[in-house]
Amino acid sequence: MQHYNRSQRDVQRFGLLGGTFDPIHYGHLVIAQEVRTALDLTKMVFVPAGYPPHKPEKTISETRHRLAMVELAIASNPHFSISTVDVERPGPSYTVETLRLLREKWGEETEIYFVIGWDSLEELPTWYNPVGILEQVTHLVAVQRPGYIEVRGYRDQLEERLPGLKRRLLTMPAPQLEISATDLRQRVAEGRPIKYQTAEAVEQYIIEHRLYGQGEKATQRHDTHAS
Ligand code: ATP
Repeated sequence: MQHYNRSQRDVQRFGLLGGTFDPIHYGHLVIAQEVRTALDLTKMVFVPAGYPPHKPEKTISETRHRLAMVELAIASNPHFSISTVDVERPGPSYTVETLRLLREKWGEETEIYFVIGWDSLEELPTWYNPVGILEQVTHLVAVQRPGYIEVRGYRDQLEERLPGLKRRLLTMPAPQLEISATDLRQRVAEGRPIKYQTAEAVEQYIIEHRLYGQGEKATQRHDTHAS
């Protein structure tokens, strides 16, 4: 069992959670918090993707909205911050490039804990230059997500697809929240509630900016139920 005690080490230990965050929700926030505290990380950095290469078929909300929602959601946590490294550069947001830029900024000695949900771990071998990703992270921290269970021999299969992965991989349990941005967008479009699935400020932002095809039906419901 590895023990992490920052006072014994004078090294910055940054967690990194990339995502589309369209919108950010409690599923993201809870894993970020769990990993940061369990590994005693200096901070957790949320990195909204500019143009996510693995979601080409989707229409992604404008960057300014996704950034604003992340900022609202993390505002109350002094250990959470946001990096705009991905949204500031043109072209697809390749993680390997994101890591290279952040390494350059933070220095070689900084430890990077790259956090991904179990669903993304499965897809990692298909990402652009996954070996390059592994080379640049101290650890890959895979967090359980509802609907994805680890079957026997799974890590070996992943290792076969992506040599070097097992050595870098840390897996971690976290409170299981069956929340996805896809479902939240659908709920908003259909006028169903998203309350208690994301931060109140994010919910308000979505309403105010009429995101996710929020139609008349949704607005009426909101008005009717407002006290
Ligand atoms: P979408 O439904 O649009 O695909 P999403 O809810 O999966 O979005 P992303 O922004 O794509 O959110 O996710 C960013 C990272 O957070 C990914 O590594 C993903 O696996 C992880 N993640 C998202 N939701 C959860 C959740 N409920 N529990 C655990 N991990 C999650």
